[in-house]
Amino acid sequence: MNGTDERILAVDPHPRMLASLEALAAARSLPLDTAATLAEARTALQSGGYGVVLVDPQFPDGDGLVLVRELRDSDVDIVVFTADPSASAPIQALRHGAADFLRKPCGPDELLLTVQNTVERRRLSRTNREMSSRLRRSERLYQFIVDNSPDLIYVLDNEGRFTFVNNTVRHLLGYQPEMLLGRHFSQIIVRADRALARYCFNERRTGDRATRGLELRLQRSGGGDPVHVDLNATGMYGDGGGDPEGGFLGTYGVARDVTERKHAEAIIRHQAYHDMLTGLPNRALFQDRLRQSLAQARRSQNRAAVLFLDLDRFKMVNDSLGHSFGDRILEQVARRLRECLREGDTLARMGGDEFTVLLPKLEREDSAARVAQKCVGALETPFELDDQEVYLGVSIGIAVYPEHGETMESLVKHADTAMYHAKSHEAAHYAFYDAGMGNRMDHYLSMETGLRRALGNQELQVVYQPQVDTDDGSIVAVEALLRWRHPERGMITPMDFIPVAEQTGLIVPISLWLLREACRECLRWGSPEAPPRLAINLSSLQVEQPDFVEGVLAVLHETGFPPERLEFEITEHLLLRNVDAVVDKLRELSGRGIRFAIDDFGTGYSSLSYLQRLPIHSLKIDQSFIHGIHTTADEGTLVRTIISMARGLGLSVVAEGVETREQLQTLQNMHCRAMQGFLFSRPLAAADMAALLGSWDGGQSMRAAALSC
Ligand code: C2E
Ligand code: MG
Ligand code: MG
Repeated sequence: MNGTDERILAVDPHPRMLASLEALAAARSLPLDTAATLAEARTALQSGGYGVVLVDPQFPDGDGLVLVRELRDSDVDIVVFTADPSASAPIQALRHGAADFLRKPCGPDELLLTVQNTVERRRLSRTNREMSSRLRRSERLYQFIVDNSPDLIYVLDNEGRFTFVNNTVRHLLGYQPEMLLGRHFSQIIVRADRALARYCFNERRTGDRATRGLELRLQRSGGGDPVHVDLNATGMYGDGGGDPEGGFLGTYGVARDVTERKHAEAIIRHQAYHDMLTGLPNRALFQDRLRQSLAQARRSQNRAAVLFLDLDRFKMVNDSLGHSFGDRILEQVARRLRECLREGDTLARMGGDEFTVLLPKLEREDSAARVAQKCVGALETPFELDDQEVYLGVSIGIAVYPEHGETMESLVKHADTAMYHAKSHEAAHYAFYDAGMGNRMDHYLSMETGLRRALGNQELQVVYQPQVDTDDGSIVAVEALLRWRHPERGMITPMDFIPVAEQTGLIVPISLWLLREACRECLRWGSPEAPPRLAINLSSLQVEQPDFVEGVLAVLHETGFPPERLEFEITEHLLLRNVDAVVDKLRELSGRGIRFAIDDFGTGYSSLSYLQRLPIHSLKIDQSFIHGIHTTADEGTLVRTIISMARGLGLSVVAEGVETREQLQTLQNMHCRAMQGFLFSRPLAAADMAALLGSWDGGQSMRAAALSC
C-alpha cells in the first residue's frame, strides 16, 4: 500500500496503544513495528528500513521530541501522535521537524489517513527528487553534447542576433561564445556571402519547409582563411505558427565545418582541369576557354588566336637526361612562357612538350606574331639545371579566328599544322596557318612514302661544304650533307626529313648510300699531296645497328677510300644514349684510322668526361655560339672556353656557321684556325665542289670569298 518496501515504526509508552496499532496495521496490511521505549525505538531505527515513525512525545524515559529532533535531518518522516491537549503541541512538534501531527484520541480512519498521507507525500517527494536528478543529468548530458558537438549550434532571435552559440565557435572561429551574444549573425559571415545568408535567414518558412540548408563562408575572429560551413536554419514560431510573419521567434540550426571537403573538392576540380606537372590549364580547360572566347568573339566580331607550341630538342633532353630532369625543364618552360602573356590569355599544356596559347582578343594584326616572337625569345636562353645547360627552342603555329578557322577544332588543328610547318623550316620559329599546308599527319605520311621512293628515284643528293684552315687558306675537309629534291616540293632540308627517316628506319640505307656516294666523289678531288678529308654525319640509329662497323668497312673496301681521310661527325646526344656500345664501335673504326668529331658541340648536356674515353679528334663548335659571338658576351666567353679546353685535351676545333668577317676575325683572335660556313662557301653539288677545289688557291681564294660575302 505504501508503494515502497519501507516500514512504519510506532513508538508509544502505552502497550495498549501499541497493541491496537498493531491490530489496525495487520487488518490493513501495513508493515508496522512497535517500540515501547525511546531506547528500543533508537535501536530499531538504527537497523534502517523505516520510512514513517509514529511517535508519542510523552515518554517516561525521556522527551519524545528529542527523538523527533534527532530524526529531523534523516530520511524518515515523523508523525507526532500525542494526548497533549495544549495548542502549542502541534506547533512544537512541527518546529522540531515532524511531518504531521495527530491528537489522541483519534479514530482509526483519521490515523490511517494521516499515515497514508505521509507515505504518499514521501513517495511523491522521492519521485520528484528522482525526476529532478534525472533532469539535471539529462540537462548536463545535453549541455555536454551541445558543447562538444563538432558542429556549431546556434540560436538567433527574430532580428537575427545570437542568443546562443555553443562552445564549438571557440575553436572553429576563435570567438568566445559570450562575445557573439547579442551580435548580428552577418558580422561573422564573409562579406560576399552576406546577401545569400540574409536571404536564407529572412525567408519565413513553416512545416516541412521550415529548415533550409546552404553553404556559407564564416570569418575567423583574427582574420585568415574563411571557414566553409554547411549551414541549416530552422525557423521558430510561437502562437500563430501558421502565419509565417506573425509568430516568428527566431532561427536555430547547425553549421558544419566543410572546409576540408571544400579544399579536397577544389583540388579535384583543379586536377581535372590542370596539368599536374606545370599547374597550367590542361586540354579540357583550354577547350572550355576557347569555346567561350569564340562565342564572345563571334558576338563582338573580334579576332582571337590559337598558338600551338612544340619544343625543339626536348625529346633528346628527356631521352638522354631522364624524365625527371625533363619534367623540371618543362616546369621552367611553363614559367618562362607564362611571363610572355597577359592576364586574360590562356597558356595550357596539351601533353608532352606541346603547349597552346589562347589570345582571346587580338587588338592588332601583328599581336599574335609578337606574342610568338616573345615566346621564341623566352626559350632561346639556355636552361640551367643541376649544372647542366640545356638548349631548347620552340616552333609555333598560329591560327587566327575567323580567317584560319571558325570552330574550336579547326583552329587547334590548323595551329598544329602551322607549327609543324614552322618546325620543318629551319629559319622560321613560327608560322601562320595557310590552307596549302595540309595537316601534320598528311605531312608525315607523304614524307614517309616520298622518302621510300626517293632512294630508288635518285631524288636524294649529296652536297659538300668545305672546311677551311684560315691560317694558310687551305681546304682541309669537305662535309657531306644530304639533300632531297622532292619532285613537287622542291629542295627539302635534312632537318625536315631526317627525323622521319630516323623514325621509319630509312636513315640506315640512306646513310650507307650517302657514304658510298660521297667516298666515290671525294676520291676524285683535291691535290694528291693534300687531299681533303671527307666529313660524314652519323645518326644514332645508324650506329646502333649491329652491323654498323662492317657496313662502313665494306663501303671503304668497295670504294677504295682511305680510312684516314674519313671523319665521322657524331653528336653528344648520340653518345648519351648508349655510350658503352658506341665506344666499342668507335674504337674499332678509329683503330682503322677513321677520325671522329663532335658535331654541334656545346648543345649537349653531358659531362665532358666522355671525351677522354672516346677516340675524338676535334670539336665542331655549334653555329648558334658563333652567331652570338658578338651579340652576347656569354657566347664569346663560351667559345673562348671551348677553344682553350679543346687545346688542353689535345683536340682541334672547327667553328661552324661562320658567316661574317667579324666572326672570322674574332675566332682567329681566339686562335681558332679551322672554320666552316657561308663566308667561305655554301654547300655545293659534287661538280661545283670539284670546280671549287680545282680553282682554290689558298689564302687568296679565301680572302676573295671573305670579301665577297
Ligand atoms: P650539321 O652537321 O651541323 O651541318 C651544318 C649545317 O649548317 C648544314 O645544314 C649547313 O648547310 C649549315 N651551315 C653551314 N654553314 C652555315 C652558315 O654559315 N650559316 C648557317 N646558317 N648555316 C650554315 P644542313 O645541310 O641543313 O644540315 C642540317 C643538319 O642535318 C646537319 O647539321 C646534320 O646534323 C644533319 N645532316 C645533314 N646531312 C646529314 C646526313 O647525311 N646524315 C645525318 N645523320 N645527318 C645529316
Ligand atoms: Mg655535321
Ligand atoms: Mg653542326
